[in-house]
Amino acid sequence: MPVKNRFAELLPEITEWRRDLHRHPEILFETHRTSKVVADKLREFGCDEVVEGIGRTGVVGVIKGKTDSGKVIGLRADMDALPIHEQTGVEHASQTAGAMHACGHDGHTAMLLGAARYLSETRNFDGTVVVIFQPAEEGGGGGREMCDDGMMDRWNIQEVYGMHNWPGRPVGSFAIRPGAFFAATDLFEIYLEGKGGHAAKPQEVVDTTLMGSHLVTALQSIVSRNADPTKNIVVSVTSFETSSKAFNVIPQRVHIRGTVRTMDNEMRDLAEKRMGEIAAGVAATFGGTVKVDYQRNYPVMVNHETETEYAAEAARAVSGDCADAPLVMGGEDFAFMLEARPGAYILVGNGDTAPVHHPEYDFADEAIPAGCSWWAEIVERRMPAA
Ligand SMILES: [Zn+2]
Ligand SMILES: [Zn+2]
Repeated sequence: MPVKNRFAELLPEITEWRRDLHRHPEILFETHRTSKVVADKLREFGCDEVVEGIGRTGVVGVIKGKTDSGKVIGLRADMDALPIHEQTGVEHASQTAGAMHACGHDGHTAMLLGAARYLSETRNFDGTVVVIFQPAEEGGGGGREMCDDGMMDRWNIQEVYGMHNWPGRPVGSFAIRPGAFFAATDLFEIYLEGKGGHAAKPQEVVDTTLMGSHLVTALQSIVSRNADPTKNIVVSVTSFETSSKAFNVIPQRVHIRGTVRTMDNEMRDLAEKRMGEIAAGVAATFGGTVKVDYQRNYPVMVNHETETEYAAEAARAVSGDCADAPLVMGGEDFAFMLEARPGAYILVGNGDTAPVHHPEYDFADEAIPAGCSWWAEIVERRMPAA
């Protein structure tokens, strides 16, 4: 079955919703307008239950099928934007300086709203659909907050599915992989302390800048010398700040920041352990002290085998094919929902656009019929009408 005709019909309307969301981006948990728009539309569609304020600003809608098998499937979209100043020049560009939908979550929200509308109209399934709209995917752990709020148990969700647009793939085409898919995204902060002083008297100081520079270099040995070369791991130092900006002062302190990306807990443990040892060793070598704060952020996002096949079958039904997706070293907050319940996460092509998180990125509205149809297919295939 190709794209459902109803979504071709609804395309102009869903596109308008998407562009309205794009004009009004909101960051992290501050999705107040977006959440209200979503909740109002779900009520307008005739959802059986609409609850706001799950995971702070998350929204949940419940749609019951014609019959009730007792099965409940969760469908999840993210709603938050990014702190990026938009440079697309499009008519529907962000009206908020310094904020934009640069990851296409406007498109995800609009597509799941489109599916909710169709499912509310047709109810051609045997069970219950829970549509999940989460805030704060971009680093805030909104998905974790919704799970911590008891969402999975409260609505007895048994399986959960997610989708992300993907620049570089043909519009509306799908790709997925079973098992580990998106990386664990840990954060680290390293505080080095030496002895500041006059830049012309190095013999009297403990130079934190030199110490920090050696540490940045040494940290790359985690990837090249400690990790199994057949495993996937990234260590990136992204910030190096000293406590002085003067030309003639050796700073007392250096603050280093960065991220570690891994695909399994063994690599995660290794990175944390070696980072502590290397930092202590470098600090001791140069006569300073160090404190390492390693923060475990999003876990590895793991697609469950069986549900990945269901997701791929639905994708093939919509667009005729479902490609094998590569590993992604980026993170995804949906990982928490896939830790709580079996499910799968799929990529839908955004065409030849700028990459996500780029100021010239825009969601491709042409992907809407395929994305909406995939949601509907999952529901109608997993809970076929009695
Ligand atoms: Zn993003
Ligand atoms: Zn995203």
